Amino acid sequence: MTTNADCLFCQIVAGEIPADVVRSTNDTLAFHDVAPQAPTHILVIPRAHHRDVAAIATSDPELAGRLLADAAAVAADLGLAEFRLVLNTGESAGQSVFHVHAHVMAGRDFTWPPG
Ligand code: AMP
Repeated sequence: MTTNADCLFCQIVAGEIPADVVRSTNDTLAFHDVAPQAPTHILVIPRAHHRDVAAIATSDPELAGRLLADAAAVAADLGLAEFRLVLNTGESAGQSVFHVHAHVMAGRDFTWPPG
């Protein structure tokens, strides 16, 4: 499995940095975002290091699929019928941690303009 010692999320996978984990599988880990932007805000990451969704889709599309499936499973575990799923890709898109992660967010209105 590819890991990057300098990567914050690899350090969470390794248990070197604590996280509030809600779901753990052989391939993925889901934990609460430390700075939530919604009442529910969970991050779902592959255990293996991939920079972003474009990289994982190219190098391991099966794992990319499991990441999506596990993000949906997190939402189901929380009883969420509706949720926002975001994968920021690149700095200008808002990506700040370069280990692919899906944001599962719910509990507020995401429509625009707000309803
Ligand atoms: P992004 O900006 O899309 O790369 O998302 C990175 C997310 O990681 C942000 O929402 C941060 O709040 C979150 N984050 C940063 N450090 C931690 C941490 N130690 N534990 C949990 N979430 C974190």
